[in-house]
Formats: sequence, C-alpha cells, structure tokens
Amino acid sequence: MLSQVVELIEQQHRFMITSHIRPDGDGLGSGLALYWMLRSLGKEPTVVLRDRVPPAYHVLPGADLVIVQPDVFEEYDAAFIIECSDVERPGLPSLKDQFVVNIDHHSTTMPFGDINWIDSTAAAVGEMIYNLSKALGVEVTKEIAECIYTALLTDTGSFHFSNTTERTLKIASELVRRGVEPARISQALFYSYPFSKVRLLGLVLSTIERDETGRIAWVTMDRETMYEADANEEDSDGIVNHALSVGEVEAVAFFKELEPGVYRVSLRSKGRNNVAKVAELFGGGGHRNAAGCRIEGDFEEVKRRVIEGLQNAIGVAPVSA
Ligand code: 5GP
Ligand code: MN
Repeated sequence: MLSQVVELIEQQHRFMITSHIRPDGDGLGSGLALYWMLRSLGKEPTVVLRDRVPPAYHVLPGADLVIVQPDVFEEYDAAFIIECSDVERPGLPSLKDQFVVNIDHHSTTMPFGDINWIDSTAAAVGEMIYNLSKALGVEVTKEIAECIYTALLTDTGSFHFSNTTERTLKIASELVRRGVEPARISQALFYSYPFSKVRLLGLVLSTIERDETGRIAWVTMDRETMYEADANEEDSDGIVNHALSVGEVEAVAFFKELEPGVYRVSLRSKGRNNVAKVAELFGGGGHRNAAGCRIEGDFEEVKRRVIEGLQNAIGVAPVSA
C-alpha cells in the first residue's frame, strides 16, 4: 500500500523502474514521473524497459534516459513494476530476484510484489503517482506534470472512457496549472503519426465485420497487410477503438497476426460489458472496457472462440456457425 511505498522510498536509494513490454502512455508516463520525483529527492533511479519507447512518446521529459535492455543486470534497493499483471510482463527474466514493488490499477493484477500497491479506482497509474507525489511532499514540476498528464490522457482515451472521474479531471486541471499545455501533448500523441500508421488504419478498418446481432464487431490484421502499409506492430495501436465507434456495437476484437498461427487480440467494450473476463479465458487480462491476450491456433478457430467469448460477455446468444 501507499504508506509502505513512501517508507521504502524514504529509506532506500537506488531504484529501478520498469513497466510492461510494448510500453504505453500510462507505463511510460507514470514511470518517468516517478523517475523525476525520485531524482528531486536526491535518489538514484533508473528506468529500464525491454522494448523501446515508441516515437509518439519521445515528447515525454526523460524519454531519452530510458535504458532498453533484455534483462536486469544490476542489483537495486528496489524495483518498481508499473501496471503489470505479473512479474513476467516486463519481459526482464531476472526482475523476480529484486525487491519488487508492484504498482497497478488493474483489478486482475496478482499481488506478486514484496510490496503491492493496487488501486483499481484509479483511472491510470498516473493518478496513483500523483497521489504519491503528495504523500512524499514532492513538488509537481512541469516535467512530472507532463508525464502524469500523458498517463491520464492515454489511459482514459482522451478522457472519453468510463474510468474518467471527477478526481481524474481535478488532477488534470492541477497538472495544467503546473505547466502542461494540453494541445502540445495531444499534438505529439495524436497528430504526429507516421504515414504508415494512417495507411494501416485504412487497410485494417476495411476488414470490419460484425455478427448477426450487430452488437459485436471485429477487425483483422495479417502480416501481408503490415508489409503493404510498410507498418510495424506499434502502428496498429489505437485502431481497435475505431471499430467500437459504430453506434450499436458494444464489444470489439482486433486480431493481429504476429506470426503464422500466433495472434494478439485486443478487446474493447462499452459500458458494463466486461472484456477483461474474456481475455482471462485465454490467459490475458486488463480492464472491464479494455483488455488483451495472446492466442495460438488456427485463425478461424481463434476468431470463433473469441467472438463466442464476447457474445457471452455481452449476453447475446452464441451463434452456432
Ligand atoms: P491492448 O489491446 O492495448 O494491447 O491492451 C489493452 C489493455 O489490456 C492493456 O492496457 C492491458 O491492461 C491489458 N492487456 C493486454 N494484453 C494483455 C496480456 O497479454 N496480459 C494481460 N494481463 N493484460 C493484457
Ligand atoms: Mn494503465
């Protein structure tokens, strides 16, 4: 819990900070905000990630300080693991040998850390890191504010999703007071795409299909489509939300072929429809309205199982096709 995290930071000195593979705005923003907070306390933090920082997030102060490596090669006083469901999610095998602090806002997370601070009421871990700054008495500088704002903006879908609360908006307002320019962050995140990403969006969206109820839709991206758009997997982030923009659609899946017979599946839903439960059926996880998993098998079979899972989740009769 929070008080244990505060005590640990006060007592120790050398910290590692990490998040999951294919880092996103909350993992990066929260991690870098924590980095700047520890620096301001005179501590020695290092941000280590398995995967590189996607270009869109180079706007974050400290993005250039992130160390990208395949494992942990030093001993730290403690390692903060941000928004991960288990100790393997960061993709750093020796991480489990460190003193681990698990900081997450997923209700599906395991208490895998030596310290576990989990708050599923937080829209983003960024919200928790903001609370940590108050508990530590750290001044929220413009750098810290920009990192936390990015975490909030991305995890709430630009304040569209149901995790957006009065507290989220209050914190965002405070961050703007601390120097964040919302338009500058949005410009960097949502209006600076490479051409390949928008081309890929067009190709993938044209694959949209729906079930006979019209309440479930899905899009698909195979390897050829990625080559055709000259895109990479990062470019496919966010596409799934477009499928959910259809009025009567309540849950969507995005099937991405990683290699023949291996698929990453992104799930999204509206309202009370819980797609984390569907992802969990396949060993994944996430939030009620945004979840994911990795499935191996024949594509038609993978698709059938996921769509059936979604039909159960939103309470329509499964089709026998
Ligand atoms: P995305 O579809 O953007 O890859 O993932 C959406 C959300 O689902 C993530 O923020 C994360 O919470 C969760 N998620 C995605 N993939 C996995 C996975 O393989 N395992 C777990 N536990 N959660 C996942
Ligand atoms: Mn998050």
